[in-house]
Amino acid sequence: MSNDNKGSANAPAISNFLRGIIEADIASGKYANRTDDHGLPLPEIITRFPPEPNGYLHIGHAKSICLNFGLANDFDGRCTMRFDDTNPEKEEQEYVDTIIDSVQWLGFGWKDEGGDHLYFASDYFDKMYAMAEYLISAGHAYVDSQSAEEMASHRGNFNEPGKNSPYRDRPAAESLDLFRRMKAGEFKDGEHILRAKIDMASPNMNMRDPAIYRIRHAHHHRTGDDWCIYPMYDYAHPLEDAIEYVSHSLCTLEFQDHRPFYDWVLERCAEGGFFKHPLPKQIEFARLNLTYAITSKRKLRQLIEENIVDGWDDPRMPTIVGIRRRGYTPEAIQLFAERIGVAKSDSWIDMSTLEGSLRDDLDEKAPRATAVLRPLKLIIDNFPDNESVECSAPVHPHHPDRGNRTFQISKELWIEADDFMEVPSKGYFRLYPGNKVRLRYGYVVECTGCDKDANGNVIAVHCNYFADSKSGTEGSANYKVKGNIHWVSARHAVEAEVRLYDRLFTDPNPDAGGKDFKLALNPNSKEVITAYLEHGMSNAQPDDKFQFERHGYFVADRVDSKAGKPVFNRAVTLKDSWGK
Ligand code: ATP
Ligand code: MG
Repeated sequence: MSNDNKGSANAPAISNFLRGIIEADIASGKYANRTDDHGLPLPEIITRFPPEPNGYLHIGHAKSICLNFGLANDFDGRCTMRFDDTNPEKEEQEYVDTIIDSVQWLGFGWKDEGGDHLYFASDYFDKMYAMAEYLISAGHAYVDSQSAEEMASHRGNFNEPGKNSPYRDRPAAESLDLFRRMKAGEFKDGEHILRAKIDMASPNMNMRDPAIYRIRHAHHHRTGDDWCIYPMYDYAHPLEDAIEYVSHSLCTLEFQDHRPFYDWVLERCAEGGFFKHPLPKQIEFARLNLTYAITSKRKLRQLIEENIVDGWDDPRMPTIVGIRRRGYTPEAIQLFAERIGVAKSDSWIDMSTLEGSLRDDLDEKAPRATAVLRPLKLIIDNFPDNESVECSAPVHPHHPDRGNRTFQISKELWIEADDFMEVPSKGYFRLYPGNKVRLRYGYVVECTGCDKDANGNVIAVHCNYFADSKSGTEGSANYKVKGNIHWVSARHAVEAEVRLYDRLFTDPNPDAGGKDFKLALNPNSKEVITAYLEHGMSNAQPDDKFQFERHGYFVADRVDSKAGKPVFNRAVTLKDSWGK
């Protein structure tokens, strides 16, 4: 797959406070005329998307992706795709592959004139190590040999300052020797740790001599057994940003208190000659919280392990692979990201905003088709046996240029069961004995009665048609009927499995306040039915999307559809049925 595309060219610019900051930095020339270590010019604005390859991306990540790549595109900058793989234990190649695939699917790439900006933080381990040695030599870091318990008890709390470690003032040469021996594998996990030397009395707990390297005898998915010490996230992240010449490092609000340490690390390393000013700037924004969904990786995994859903790409999952399979388009997700914008404080976004973005995108794009989901037989008694007549309908009602689709009408049709009532309720205009309706794109029929089984269930409806009433012919104007129902010819219909998906939870905040999200599962989040579709649907290719008229938007399932035998997923209904 090509990955040198740079996102949707015609997406409107995201207007938000982040843009404001970037525009101000451009106006002041803060990041202008930078060059890399080889003296080559750099884009003024560089952002990055830095996932940890320890799970599947979800809709929250999509917000971050659209933001980082979107801003870089808008300002003619660069967004690097960086795997933040500094933690050996939980990371796997499988996740690297799915993340790359998801970001590309969303419409973003990371190649430009300056090269292919796909990076792995683990490729910087040597540099990070060299900087740690420098920090020790310069008196900015020391090896602490306290136990984890001792360290925790010396940390203090919000009200009390911490206490200096007895090892804090050990000579730099001694720390350096110990650090080298940590690297050489002479110690067990947890025996020593490298800490920044800042201020154990700082009101910001993150500045109380935070750990920067720990011993972990673990196999790494890329560096294998080369290392048994690994950098801590708060130390590694600013270095990764600076190594990639990031100008604006966008992260979620919980990192606000980490920013002083972010700046400290970069300033110290710049003093050591590792980086030039201007240094990357960390800016925090509110994470996406979506109602009727959970995004915690641990809880999503639980849904799979307990067979509540059918895998990471179950169309009910908020993962990118899940919503893609559900029928979402990259454009709908980009539209969603634009609509929600970015804020500086946490808030909840309603699921209907996501669903609305898909409706708005597909309304324009999706060809129309007919599907009968709850089939009931309609027999046109005066229609000739074994004959059929071609009917036609627009592919898209607002785009006549997209042409027409054709399908046959014959004596026996499938209609929706609820389009017939033996005894009509007040205001019911569809089929009931004595009433006339138009079979959409076909003829006007008059209902004559119905057949029932021994239990009194209606098993077929009878009617007669008016041969001069066909839609699109002159005679059709002579018939004025209130009801208009859809149908497919029983003999020509495609029988297909259709999965009617709905929200996975009935509670807008299924896991808020430590609630058990399993108590909020929607028992009707997936219903599998056999439906009858208009003839042309047998040609539907995986991922093809349609509006099934009167029902909603559906996609041919990308996993289970077979040639000539598509399986459809309901992506979203035509109208929001969840609104208050
Ligand atoms: P973990 O809990 O494993 O750290 P994570 O959700 O933070 O998971 P990362 O891989 O670290 O996952 O995230 C990559 C990027 O996506 C980060 O920059 C993070 O800020 C951003 N991100 C993650 N979740 C959201 C969210 N809900 N809204 C916006 N951005 C998010
Ligand atoms: Mg994270």
